[in-house]
Amino acid sequence: MIDWSVEGDRCVALLRDLIRIPTVNRGTGEAGDANERVAAERLAETMREAGLEPKLIEKKKDRTNMVVRVKGDGSRPPLLLNAHLDVVEADAGAWRHDPFGAEIHDGYIWGRGAIDMKNMAAMSAIVMTLLAREKETLKRDVIFAAVADEEAGCALGSIHLADDHPDEVRAEYMLGEIGAFSQHLFGRTFYPIQVAEKGVCWVRATYVGEPGHGSMPDPDSAVVRLARAVERLGSRRLPMHPIAVVRDFIERVAKELPSPQKHVLKRLTTPQVAALILDHLVKDPGQQRSFGAMLANTASPTVLRAGSKVNVIPGRATVDIDGRTLPGQSEAAFLEELREALGGDPQLEVLRSLPAVETSPDTALYRHLAATVQKHDPTGHPVPYMIPGFTDAKAYARLGTASYGFAPVKFDPMDEISFSRMYHGHDERIPVDGVKWGVRVLYDAVSGFCRV
Ligand SMILES: [Zn+2]
Repeated sequence: MIDWSVEGDRCVALLRDLIRIPTVNRGTGEAGDANERVAAERLAETMREAGLEPKLIEKKKDRTNMVVRVKGDGSRPPLLLNAHLDVVEADAGAWRHDPFGAEIHDGYIWGRGAIDMKNMAAMSAIVMTLLAREKETLKRDVIFAAVADEEAGCALGSIHLADDHPDEVRAEYMLGEIGAFSQHLFGRTFYPIQVAEKGVCWVRATYVGEPGHGSMPDPDSAVVRLARAVERLGSRRLPMHPIAVVRDFIERVAKELPSPQKHVLKRLTTPQVAALILDHLVKDPGQQRSFGAMLANTASPTVLRAGSKVNVIPGRATVDIDGRTLPGQSEAAFLEELREALGGDPQLEVLRSLPAVETSPDTALYRHLAATVQKHDPTGHPVPYMIPGFTDAKAYARLGTASYGFAPVKFDPMDEISFSRMYHGHDERIPVDGVKWGVRVLYDAVSGFCRV
C-alpha cells in the first residue's frame, strides 16, 4: 500500500529542491548557461536511492539530461515521461517572493519552474521510485527523461536524446507538457490534455528600395514599405482554419457551458464568421488571443532591422516573423497567407521550420488518461486540445513517439490565478495540494496503463 500523505510530502520536498536550483536558460546555447547538471544530479540521487540506474547524458558540458528506466516484461513498447529542467528568467524585483526560494505562502509553492515544469520532473521522479518499490508487473518499460534546453529550442536536450541516443528514449507514447491542469470557465472545471501542437515557421521578410540621402525623403523607401507591411500584419488575422482537433475541443467545452456562452463558442468553428465572433463577442482579450491562435496560422513581427546612419536612406529593411502553423497546413500555404497579409511583395526566407505534431485522442491511452482525471475529480471535464507553442513532443515525434500533454495539477476553482498566465509570468506558483493530487493522478495513469 502506498501512503499518499508521505509520497505527497516527498514530491513537494523534491519540487522545492529543484526550484532552488536556478537552471535559467538565457538561450545562449553555451556550456555555462542554464547548468542543468545540478538539477539532473539531484534527480539521479533520488533514482539511485530507489535502486534504479540513472544515466547522465550531455551534448555540452553541464547541459545535462537524466534518463532512467523501470523495466517491464517487454511485451508492450515503452512509455516515456518527460520534463524539462531549464526555466526562463525571472525578474526578482517584480515578484512577491524570491523566484528561486521555493517558499510556501497561502498554500502555494512559489518559484520559477513551479508550473513550467519542475512539478512534472518531481512527480515523474516520485512515480519512478514507486514503480521500482512496488515491484509492479509492468508490460511496458517506463522511461523518465529530465531534459535540458527546452526553453531555447531543445537542441541540447530532447533533440540530442532523440537524434544521438534514440535507444535510451524510444517509446510508443510520451507524457509531458502541457495538460491535465484544471481550468475554470463560467463555473465549470476543464482539464485540457494536449493532443496537438502547432508547427514553427520563422521567416525573414526583406524589403528593398532605392538607397538615398536622408535630406530627400522617399515615400517608397525600404523602411517605409517595411513599416506599412508590419502595420498590416499586426492589424489583420490570417485566414481561419478550424481544424478537427480544435473543433472537437470547442464543441466539448461549449457542451458544458451555460447559454449564451455555449452558442457564442460553437460559432467559432464556422470559418466564415469565426473572425467576426472573435472580434466582437469574445470580450476577454486573453481568450481572444488564445482562440485566435487555435483557429488560424499566426505571424508575429518580432525583430526589425534597417539602416545604420541617420542621414542615409537604407536600400533594404527586414522584419523577422515568428510564424506558427496549424497541423495539416503546409509551409507553402502559410507563406502564401503571410505574403498576402504583408503586401508590398517582400522576399521571404524561412529561417527555421518545425512541423506541427498531432496525436489522435481516439486511443486506449487517451481514454485511460481522461478516466483517471475524472476518477480523481468527478466534477472535471477532460478535453483534448492544441497548444500554440511547442514542446519536447516535437523531438520525440522524430522517433515515431505519440505524445500527450499530461502533467496533472489541480487548482482551487475559487482561485483567481490562471494557469496559462503563470507560464513565464511573474509570481509563478503551484498549490501544495495540487501537486500532491497530481502525483497521485500521474501514478495511477502510468501504472494503470503499463500493467495491461
Ligand atoms: Zn515548459
